[in-house]
Amino acid sequence: MRINIHAGHNPDGKIACGAVGLIRESTEARIVKDKVIALLKAQGHTVYDCTVDNGTSQNDVLRKIVSHCNAHPVDLDVSIHFNAGANKTANNRTTGTEVYVYSASSRAKEAARRVADAISALGFQNRGVKYRSSLYVLKHTKAPALLIEICFVDDPDDIRIYDADQAAQAIAQGLTAIK
Ligand SMILES: [Zn+2]
Repeated sequence: MRINIHAGHNPDGKIACGAVGLIRESTEARIVKDKVIALLKAQGHTVYDCTVDNGTSQNDVLRKIVSHCNAHPVDLDVSIHFNAGANKTANNRTTGTEVYVYSASSRAKEAARRVADAISALGFQNRGVKYRSSLYVLKHTKAPALLIEICFVDDPDDIRIYDADQAAQAIAQGLTAIK
């Protein structure tokens, strides 16, 4: 397969960086993104890293990501994020994982379901595949696109079980349907 992957947002410490909780979204998404790229390349897939580190605003980050994405003909565009807003203390129940696609007719829907299932198999509640036509990356990329919210940066139960290597393996398996 040919796959575009990027970590959402600018790097931590810059304008338009990601959510910060018990872990930092921008930093962890880059760690996972690098691991997914390595796993997919080891399987012989062609992978382009469309991550943007020099956006001047949130909109600028998004525009630049999409312009990188649309520069390559690929089978999938993959955006890696972490969620925030769990707003709870530890209770031994994760808030969990979810994966967004543009609509119910997205050609990325099956891959999105596989990724959500694979991450959930690590112990996270499966919030499933959701449709979100308003998300800029999903709306403007040419190839089928999915946006992965691995888990919640501000839920202690999510962060207790979160492991970048396991998350990357789950994502790579889900994207390629290879165990
Ligand atoms: Zn994000």
